[in-house]
Amino acid sequence: MHELSIAKSLIELACEHAKNEGACKVTRISVRLGTESVVMRSLYFCFDSATKDTLCEGADLDIEEIPLSAYCPTCDEAKLLLSRTSFRCPDCGTPTPKILTGREMQLVSLNLEYADNDTLPLPPTINSTINSGEHHEH
Ligand SMILES: [Zn+2]
Repeated sequence: MHELSIAKSLIELACEHAKNEGACKVTRISVRLGTESVVMRSLYFCFDSATKDTLCEGADLDIEEIPLSAYCPTCDEAKLLLSRTSFRCPDCGTPTPKILTGREMQLVSLNLEYADNDTLPLPPTINSTINSGEHHEH
């Protein structure tokens, strides 16, 4: 249940940001998730229900997966880890407890829609004031 609440907080963050920006709708949410992140599946799973009745309802979910990498003190550089269960350098076998990427959960960008761009039809009353075709000057 914990991952689910993290996924929801990400959506809440997006909604809050949209609100601060004065947007009326979020059309697309781009996030960066580490392959090791447990949130990935939860985010897909709960996205529809968690965005219901929010500014994010109906938004596209765009997830960029970040591979798992760790720092190897022996090679003195970052290595992509081949296995999610064995945290060892694939080249020299040194344990690599220092994970660099693969666990992040980051909101990258939002596509927002503003009320200003609304293409709602004008109220019908406006038409009655535009009768400039005929002049009656006496
Ligand atoms: Zn190494």
